[in-house]
Amino acid sequence: MRRVVATLCVAAAVVVYARVPRAQAPSPAPITVVSAQGRRGLTVTTVNGSDYLSLDDIAIAFGLTLRDDRVTGTSQLAADGRAAILTPDRTAVSVQGRLVSLAAPPLRQDGRLIVTPEFVTRVVAPLLDRRVDFRRAGRLFVVGDLRVPRVVVRGEFAASAAQVTLEISPAAETRVTQSGSQLVVTVAADALDAAVPTVPAQGLLQQIRPGDTPATLVLATGPRFASYRTSVQPVDAGTTRVVIDLLAAGAASLSAGGSAAPPTPGAPTTPSAPPPASNAGVDPGLPLPGAGLRTIVIDPGHGGEANGTEGPGGTLEKTITLQVSRRLKALIESRLGLRVVLTRDDDRTLDQDQRAAVANNTRADLLISIHANAAVRPTVKGAEVYYLSVDRASLESRRAIQQPGPELPQLGGGTRAIELILWETAQLRHLEQSAAFATAVETALRAKVGMSPSPIQQAPFRVLVGANMPAVLVEIGYLSHPDEEKALASGVHQDKVAQALLDAITAFRTRLETPAP
Ligand SMILES: [Zn+2]
Repeated sequence: MRRVVATLCVAAAVVVYARVPRAQAPSPAPITVVSAQGRRGLTVTTVNGSDYLSLDDIAIAFGLTLRDDRVTGTSQLAADGRAAILTPDRTAVSVQGRLVSLAAPPLRQDGRLIVTPEFVTRVVAPLLDRRVDFRRAGRLFVVGDLRVPRVVVRGEFAASAAQVTLEISPAAETRVTQSGSQLVVTVAADALDAAVPTVPAQGLLQQIRPGDTPATLVLATGPRFASYRTSVQPVDAGTTRVVIDLLAAGAASLSAGGSAAPPTPGAPTTPSAPPPASNAGVDPGLPLPGAGLRTIVIDPGHGGEANGTEGPGGTLEKTITLQVSRRLKALIESRLGLRVVLTRDDDRTLDQDQRAAVANNTRADLLISIHANAAVRPTVKGAEVYYLSVDRASLESRRAIQQPGPELPQLGGGTRAIELILWETAQLRHLEQSAAFATAVETALRAKVGMSPSPIQQAPFRVLVGANMPAVLVEIGYLSHPDEEKALASGVHQDKVAQALLDAITAFRTRLETPAP
């Protein structure tokens, strides 16, 4: 299901490649060079299971000159007065007189030199004096500071509905439009680093493939397709999730949970997603804060199929968030003696509403969701704290819930005389406390690990919406910053983050226990 069938490359190549019959061993998909000047595909040869590229092709694609020295048996790659000297079968390459060691040496095949993608990032990039990233999943070389978010595409298929989920990091604005029998997803970016799954045979969706322009994906709809609906769920600062429901005539979507909004063809996607029916009502649980802290829920971001963002060194956000959450749990239990529950304690997939539901069901007094960030510019670093932002519609529902009686929305037509708090408004009554806790977290993190230029922000993160207690989401640093990625993966730094969060919880507890003047 998740096998890569085609990558972003010129449209003609995609069509040809997609038609290779499955039984034949397909030739490896090309690797595309993406730069401000355009795109160019590089043919890939497989040697001992590894991808190799022709050095001639690389020289042309990157504007380098390649000369063989028959006397010494070496080759010289040059650009703008800078030069690299390499020898077939040797892993050491001299770049401007400095030795660079490769994992795999250049090989000679049919009289041509071939090299692995690593050669481009380790030898060609310093020759050009440009940043070149290799995006393995999307098979891209990204030259310079381009916006090339990673896009993980997943599909779920049922008889009368299909759902395609795109997880985009760093987060980027997305638009879905219908054009004949195609839904075109356009991302505000220069290109996409996308792995596209094959689509099983059914009548709603025939294929997902890269679009004809760089930052687009095309969903080719099938004969049973009647309408579609999109929603955007900002997972955290580093990741956006776009859900596209494809519906047969008269069908309900896979995720609708009863609130069927009309499809909005051509309209920009809007940040609204109906919650699962099981979570529609929230048990109010504890009275409003003031009772102190007894239970804290820590939510390690992402997990399972959702990796979150990925650092240039391959560190996954879902791994870091779980490690930090476990350290924080141990610290809180040993130092403060409070009950701590993790929303996940292994590598499993959980949706945002399930996470808030864990906090609500355990009657937690505080929810801390842990994430790591990503940015297009690799120089951005530092931690950030978020609490829920409130749009006008939410403010109106807040007014409504403050008026008792028939104004109070009723769910399921029940007659129970309990106070029922709507999922969509659960966090509203805790916003002041969430803001206060966010300030405590900012102060503590600033003292231990340093903050980004935007240390406290408000955002409509789904995990915070349904939380019926003070709740914040902490981006503990930028995995896209190479040094910060190394730090975030280290136990020493993770302990610093956990200690800072413990300090913030301690300060917040003191605030709760201090009677208001
Ligand atoms: Zn995240």
